[in-house]
Amino acid sequence: MDLNSDEFFFGINKSLYFKTEEQKNEIKKMDPEYITRTGTDFVLLPNSPEFINHNEPFEPMYIPKQTILEESLRREIERICFADTLLNKVVFDCADPSPFNKDSDPSVYGLEVLPYYIPQTKEDSTLVFESRFESGNLRRAIQICDYEYNLILKPDYYTTMNTQWFYFSLSNTRKDVEYRFNIINMMKPDSLYNSGMKPLMYSDLGAKHKKIGWFRDGHEICYYQNNMKRKNGGFYYTLTFAVKFQYDFDCIYIAHCYPYTYTHLCRYLKQLECDPSKKNRVKRKQLCQTIAGNTCDFLIIGDFNNGKEKKGIVITSRVHPGETMASYVMEYMIDFLTGNTHEARILRENFIFKIVPMLNIDGVVNGNYRCNLAGVDLNRQWIDPNKKQHPTIYHTKQLVKKTKEERDLVLFCDIHGHSRKKNIFMYGCQGKDPNRKELVFPMLNRNNCSVFSFKDCCFLLQKDREGSARIALWRELSIINCFTLEMSFCGADFGKYEYFHFNLDIYKEIAQSFCLSIIDCYEPEQIKVKQVMEEIEQNSLKNQQKDDKNNSGDEGSDYSNDDPKDQAMPQQIQLQQNDQQLGSQTKKLKKIPLLPPKKKKGQ
Ligand SMILES: [Zn+2]
Repeated sequence: MDLNSDEFFFGINKSLYFKTEEQKNEIKKMDPEYITRTGTDFVLLPNSPEFINHNEPFEPMYIPKQTILEESLRREIERICFADTLLNKVVFDCADPSPFNKDSDPSVYGLEVLPYYIPQTKEDSTLVFESRFESGNLRRAIQICDYEYNLILKPDYYTTMNTQWFYFSLSNTRKDVEYRFNIINMMKPDSLYNSGMKPLMYSDLGAKHKKIGWFRDGHEICYYQNNMKRKNGGFYYTLTFAVKFQYDFDCIYIAHCYPYTYTHLCRYLKQLECDPSKKNRVKRKQLCQTIAGNTCDFLIIGDFNNGKEKKGIVITSRVHPGETMASYVMEYMIDFLTGNTHEARILRENFIFKIVPMLNIDGVVNGNYRCNLAGVDLNRQWIDPNKKQHPTIYHTKQLVKKTKEERDLVLFCDIHGHSRKKNIFMYGCQGKDPNRKELVFPMLNRNNCSVFSFKDCCFLLQKDREGSARIALWRELSIINCFTLEMSFCGADFGKYEYFHFNLDIYKEIAQSFCLSIIDCYEPEQIKVKQVMEEIEQNSLKNQQKDDKNNSGDEGSDYSNDDPKDQAMPQQIQLQQNDQQLGSQTKKLKKIPLLPPKKKKGQ
C-alpha cells in the first residue's frame, strides 16, 4: 500500500513520529521548539491546532433537557442488558500494539508510526482516533455501535485518578451522521456539562475552508455516575454527548477546554524575548528543570532603566495542567504588562513582576489533569516542597522568598480554572485584621471587570488546602494579598455574558482588569481603596465568613471517595472495571511503559 497517498488516508491526519537525532533535526527545522519537550515515552505529533478565531461571536451554553439524565441512564442500561449485541471493537489504544497494523506500535521508534486503525475501504466508516500528541490523553477507544464509541482516558501518570481533562482527535468522519461518544472513566462527582457547558472541537476542513477555529459543539450532553466500580470504592462517571460533523473525511480535535501546550508557551516566550520594543521591560530567566528535564522559565517585568524603588508582585499559573484558561489569562497579563499603554508604564515604574507561566510543564506535555510526574498535586506541596520531586514549586518558593527579602512583596496570585462553579472569582485568606484588607483587591477587581463575581469569592483557610500556594505563602510570608484567581471552565451565571461560554475576549478582560486593579490598590491617593473600605464597613462584610460548599472545585480536591491509597503511585495504570458489565472494553489495560520519576513519592 502507498502510505504517502493522501487518498488512502481518507482525511486521516497522518502522524509522523521521530525519535532518531537525524529525524529530530529534520523536525526541528519545521518546529524549533520540538525537542524541548521531553518526559514521555510516546513520541509526539509535532503540532496540534491552535487557531482560535477572535471574531467568532460568543457561544451560548446549551439548555439542559429535563429528560436527559433519564434518557442517558436508559441507554446505559440497554448497553448492559444487550452487551452481547455490541461491537466492542477496540479501535484505538495509545500504548498497546495494534492488531490491525503492527507498524503502529508506539514502541517502535524512529519509524513513521501509523494510526492504530486504518480503514481498508472507502465504505469503512470506522473513526480513526489519535492522542499521541502533546497534551493528548485518550487511552483507548472502543466502537460499540456503528456510530457510537466508548472512550477511556489516561489517568494522570502514577495515579489511578484525575481523569477530567480530555484531548484527542478523530478522522475518517462522515457528514451529517449522528455520532455518540461516551467518556466512561471520569472521576468528579459533578460537572458543568450538566449546566450548559459543551465540549470544544476543531475541524481541519472547517479551519481550511471557512477559517473556523476551535468552537463549542455537541448535543444531548449529560454527565452521570455509571455502574463501573472504582478499585478503592465509589464509581466512575460518564460524559456522553452526540455530535454531527460538517464534512466527510475530516479530522476533528475534541478537548475539554482550549488547549495550551508547552510548545505554545515556548514559542510565545521566544517571540516576547525577540521583540525589540520590550527589551527594557522584560527578562526571561531559567528557574529550573522539571523531573523530565524540561526547562521551566520565569519572567521579570519592570522598568529596568528607572532606579525608583519598586514593590514586588509574583504571579504563577498552570500548576494544574488541565486548567488551560490559566495560561491564556497569563499570556494576556504578560502582553498587558509589557505593552505600550499608560497604565502598563505606571505598573512597570512602580512594580517588579516575577512571573512563572507554567508550573507543571511535564503534566501539560503528558496530558495530565492535575498532577506532576511524581504523581502528586503540586498545589499541595508549598509548605515544604522537595527539590527533586517538586522542583518548580521548590524554586518558585525560593523566588518568592527572595523577592520578599529584596523589596515590599505586596501581592501573590496563582491562576486556576474551576470545574464546578460558573463565573470568575478569587480565593484569599482571612487573617486577624478586623478591617478585612484581604477583601479590598477582589472588590477592586469586581469594579473593573464585568464578569468578576465577588459573591463567589471565599476567604476561608481550609485544612485540606494548607499546602496550597495561597495558604502556605500567606502563612509563612504574611502576604495579605495572597490569592488564587479562579475561572470557570464554562461561563457566567449573571450579567451580560450570562448563558455564554467564556472565550478569549473574557480571558483578556480579566487579565487587563487584574492589572488595573493593582494600580487602584496601590496608587498614593487610595481613592478607590477608601471607597471599597467604606463599602466593607457599611455592608458588615467584616464579619462575613461565608462557607462555600462548592468552592472545592479545583484548588481543592473534590473527588468523591478520595482515598489516599488511591493516590499512591502504581507503576502502571490500573483502570479497574467491572468485567461483567461492559464486555470486552473492560479488559484490564496493559501496562504503559513510562519514564519513571527519579524518586518515588514520599521518599
Ligand atoms: Zn487548579
